[in-house]
Amino acid sequence: MIVIGGGIAGLTAAALLAQDGIAVTLLEAHHQAGGCAGTFRRGPWIFDVGATQVAGLEPGGSHARILQHLGLALPKASLLDPGCVVDLGDGSPPISLWHDPKRWAEERVRQFPGSERFWQLCELLHTSNWAFAGRDPVVTPRSWWDFSTLLAALRPETLASGLFTTFSIANLLQLCGCQNDKRLRRFLDLQLKLYSQEPADRTAALYGATVLQMAQAPLGLWHLQGSMQVLSEQLSQAIETAGGEIRLRHRVQAMHPSARGWTVTTTGTGAGAQAQEWHASDVICSLPPQCLVDLLPSDEIPHRYRQRLTTLPEPSGALVLYGVVQRKALPIDCPGHLQRGTEHPGSLFVSISRDGDGRAPLGQATVIASVFTPTADWCELEEPVYQGRKIERLKTMKHELNAWLGLSEDDWIHTELATPRGFAGWTGRPRGMVGGLGQHPSRFGPFGLAGRTPLPGLWLCGDSLYPGEGTAGVTLSALNACRQLMEHRGLQLSFNR
Ligand SMILES: Cc1cc2nc3c(=O)[nH]c(=O)nc-3n(C[C@H](O)[C@H](O)[C@H](O)COP(=O)(O)OP(=O)(O)OC[C@H]3O[C@@H](n4cnc5c(N)ncnc54)[C@H](O)[C@@H]3O)c2cc1C
Repeated sequence: MIVIGGGIAGLTAAALLAQDGIAVTLLEAHHQAGGCAGTFRRGPWIFDVGATQVAGLEPGGSHARILQHLGLALPKASLLDPGCVVDLGDGSPPISLWHDPKRWAEERVRQFPGSERFWQLCELLHTSNWAFAGRDPVVTPRSWWDFSTLLAALRPETLASGLFTTFSIANLLQLCGCQNDKRLRRFLDLQLKLYSQEPADRTAALYGATVLQMAQAPLGLWHLQGSMQVLSEQLSQAIETAGGEIRLRHRVQAMHPSARGWTVTTTGTGAGAQAQEWHASDVICSLPPQCLVDLLPSDEIPHRYRQRLTTLPEPSGALVLYGVVQRKALPIDCPGHLQRGTEHPGSLFVSISRDGDGRAPLGQATVIASVFTPTADWCELEEPVYQGRKIERLKTMKHELNAWLGLSEDDWIHTELATPRGFAGWTGRPRGMVGGLGQHPSRFGPFGLAGRTPLPGLWLCGDSLYPGEGTAGVTLSALNACRQLMEHRGLQLSFNR
């Protein structure tokens, strides 16, 4: 079998298949695995390209379950407490997302008086969601078997929370009489945009209720020791130990159904690279589904499926500033992860390395600040215009960070900016789109894109599939694709035995 893409989704899928003795080859365009959860080095510094916080490392969490199944230890990581500190940018006191649920409840009461009914409803929905998701249902059923997994995961409380399937988080606010609390709404808009690509009135209530509780026990957010690359390295090691193959610098250019299943064509991205053909019974593709239109022969894509693929909403792009400052220039007790609402350049999410975490020499700190931006025309700009725009955006972001963190120009030892054009080059994502499809009620859960495609033997995973973006989310999407594929072959993935 072939897995396309060596981000966390593709690596997890390949590791699960290899563990079950399946001959699997993973094809990755880049010279290293990891994709949006990879890292790059600049002199003495290591920067996490995209993901900086990890969920799913708690007992029963998605990464923890998979790593345990693969016989791997959990990566060294420290729990984030607070998971994030959110500054609404209106001069009011910042909000700390404490790990202890009691402390977080006290913080909520102080910050958003009168909102407890809203939080209790979120907690109720989350508890029911979590128990349902823990039974590994295929929530976008396209076969009787998929449907049977869904039925088996249902409980009376799931059916009750199912009544909220078409609700948004803003609907929940209204239901609880909190619709006029402007501070709460701003806080929710900022946080939800990070996890669902959408604000409160466009985020599915069932999804939002869970992501709003990711930082609290018994869940949590972690900072990996070393770098984010550790996660990909562990999964790569599991693939190779189990006899699977990882082919780096192999960019998939086309795939088509053949008598034996699928033929996949790659071109190498190194010197002297040649086109190569690969044959497999099944293909799991972890690239954004928008890529399929270019990879598949047009007459092989059923008309309605093509229509679905070509009308998918365009996810955002990101501008990411990778910087280094003297640690002493940062505020005392500066939290590791912060978010701030600003008009220009837009809501900033900042991750700061810790002394001894492997990312910067002692006395220095890496500062990674990201802001969403439309993918727009970044990939088409003439070089001078592109460079000009890049310099201007870097200046705006730095200016905002200086004002917020009390830094001066002299405190910066290094800065560079990645744009959608950079992300398109690094991750192969069309136009540099990041994140998934957005968790609007019309696209969440059963209304989302299915891992089982209408083309036999072609399966999808990644952050456009249920349950959505984030390394913990794409891990579950990979598990789903593997279970469906194995069932289709009359087998059962050992993970579920
Ligand atoms: C700025 C930013 C911040 C983020 N912060 C967090 C965070 O703090 N926590 C969190 O959990 N998540 C975060 N995320 C989201 C998270 O990184 C992603 O959802 C997740 O890593 C996506 O994994 P994936 O495997 O689905 O896709 P990708 O990581 O995009 O992997 C796809 C892989 O396919 C390869 N590829 C592309 N085209 C081809 C081709 N034609 N042939 C072969 N290979 C190809 C790419 O090189 C890449 O390695 C962030 C993302 C970004 C961009």
